[in-house]
Amino acid sequence: LFAAVEMAPRDPILGLTEAFNADTRQNKVNLGVGVYYNEEGRIPLLRAVVEAEKARLAAQAPRGYLPIEGIGAYDAAVQRLLFGSESALITEGRVVTAQALGGTGALRVGGDLLKRLLPDAAVAISNPSWENHRALFESAGFPVQQYRYYNAETHGIDRSGMLEDLRNLPPRSIIILHACCHNPTGVDLNADDWQQIIEVLKEREHVPFVDIAYQGFGDGIEQDALAARLFAQSGMSFLVSSSFSKSFSLYGERVGALSLVTQSRDESARVLSQLKRVIRTNYSNPPTHGATIVASVLNSTELRGLWEAELGEMRDRIRMMRQAMVEQLATKGARRDFTFVALQRGMFSYSGLNVEQVERLRVDHGVYAISTGRICAAALNSRNIGHVTDAIVQVLEQ
Ligand code: PMP
Repeated sequence: LFAAVEMAPRDPILGLTEAFNADTRQNKVNLGVGVYYNEEGRIPLLRAVVEAEKARLAAQAPRGYLPIEGIGAYDAAVQRLLFGSESALITEGRVVTAQALGGTGALRVGGDLLKRLLPDAAVAISNPSWENHRALFESAGFPVQQYRYYNAETHGIDRSGMLEDLRNLPPRSIIILHACCHNPTGVDLNADDWQQIIEVLKEREHVPFVDIAYQGFGDGIEQDALAARLFAQSGMSFLVSSSFSKSFSLYGERVGALSLVTQSRDESARVLSQLKRVIRTNYSNPPTHGATIVASVLNSTELRGLWEAELGEMRDRIRMMRQAMVEQLATKGARRDFTFVALQRGMFSYSGLNVEQVERLRVDHGVYAISTGRICAAALNSRNIGHVTDAIVQVLEQ
């Protein structure tokens, strides 16, 4: 049975981490990661989470199965976070939400549901995108194409290229969009861009699938929901995958959600029944712990306030590190202007360094980054940033 099984290619990011762990240099820095580290270089455990966990432990609640779509109070809180507490979509019963196993699980369940509804559709992802987007939708059985997104020369958006590619896709294509804090570039769309994209998507009857994995890491919880709010206003039907891995620092608890926006309460009931079939035949029902914690935090005024403050601290720290990186590189005489780094949002930054420069960073300086030049700004801290900027300056001189 297994004799002829070939070795699958190694995950490049995990491979990088293995190489980093084996590196014996004292001043090594891993900027290849996809998690937020605090100033001490550790994954934080938020106080809001600790408080909610204490309460959960004290309640000694039994651990029965959850409903297929997860915890009701959690699903409702996710909807309010996405669309605002006063959202007409919610009161009209036009949003269906199911708890999912992280943002990845939400994307996969959404992909499987869409395959049933639009078996012949194409999926389009941004160029570049989070590498799992392609793999996930290919696994769900879709051909995956790319639309232009990032302009390496301007370190900005290729606006005309993006709109042109979206126009040229076959009608009713599924378009995966990063709501904020674009992974891997850090370059986001503005309100004007979103409006233009929405017009094209409507015209071509494309299906928007908005991926929001960093709500609160960009400009703020409400600000980062802009894309979801604009799609809500557009009158279109669309999907949203939410992840709380970063915003609650609950990576391993797998807390996410899939929300579907329909045209009516009746449509919602039918769509939910189909969504439940997809989930039931995949993992039956979701786990209890993470979503219970997130629901308790979001539904308590006190804990929510604490969480917002802690999320704000993470957001501000990343911004400070971006700013410090720009300033240090300028002061140290880097042969390039890096001001674009401070304009990017979220954890990731396309640094503009090429494969050879990334290689030199690792070999000569013990600074690990992804070969595309992607660095995690959230892995910088006041102790390692000096070494990182020294290394970048030297690599650019070679
Ligand atoms: N979408 C994007 C754009 C991401 O960057 C990530 C996580 N790296 C995810 C989805 C998946 O999130 P989760 O870890 O919650 O599955």
